Amino acid sequence: MRPELALAKLTAKTSRMRAVVTEISSGAYSATEIAGALAGFNSDGEKLEKEPYLLGVVKFLQAQASFSELHTLSTLRVTDLVRERCWRHERGWAQAVGRGMEPSRQLSLIALGDCIGSQKCEVCEGRKWVFPEGSAPVECKNCLATGVASPSGRTLAAQFGVDEAAWRRYWGRKYRPIIAMVHGWEMLCLWHVVEKLGE
Ligand SMILES: [Zn+2]
Repeated sequence: MRPELALAKLTAKTSRMRAVVTEISSGAYSATEIAGALAGFNSDGEKLEKEPYLLGVVKFLQAQASFSELHTLSTLRVTDLVRERCWRHERGWAQAVGRGMEPSRQLSLIALGDCIGSQKCEVCEGRKWVFPEGSAPVECKNCLATGVASPSGRTLAAQFGVDEAAWRRYWGRKYRPIIAMVHGWEMLCLWHVVEKLGE
């Protein structure tokens, strides 16, 4: 496929994904339709992997009962990340463990809550753009043009149980690849269901 054609297709698909999220949250599909799309095969004959599947089940079907399984799996994935990056040997990590914390478990819990409970950005109302009077639209700085409100460092620090300075100095940098991984699962999930729901 020519690169420009591939890019055009990708752009069309991502904008369709955004529209499907809005449609799901406004109740355009029944639970049966959503469940069928999540559990079905895509056009390549593949099913969703466990993490993106469970994330979709919890986020789009509000199936709270699946949350603990999702949390267990995501903690395992974070543990893989910790091993790859040798975080356990870092002083900050080791001290937290010494105080009885389970950073992998807690960080994965916060990231799941962040992704599943994400709310529309109040500044741009989810449009990713703000429209200053008399000038061209600019990307929303509040949500960094994602359209969803991200919790502040203060909120994340409080959820994790450390002060904001410690979050900014150390834990925030650990959190970033973890929330990116969880958002990646959400993308895979949407990429999958959009074929069924977005027709
Ligand atoms: Zn915004």
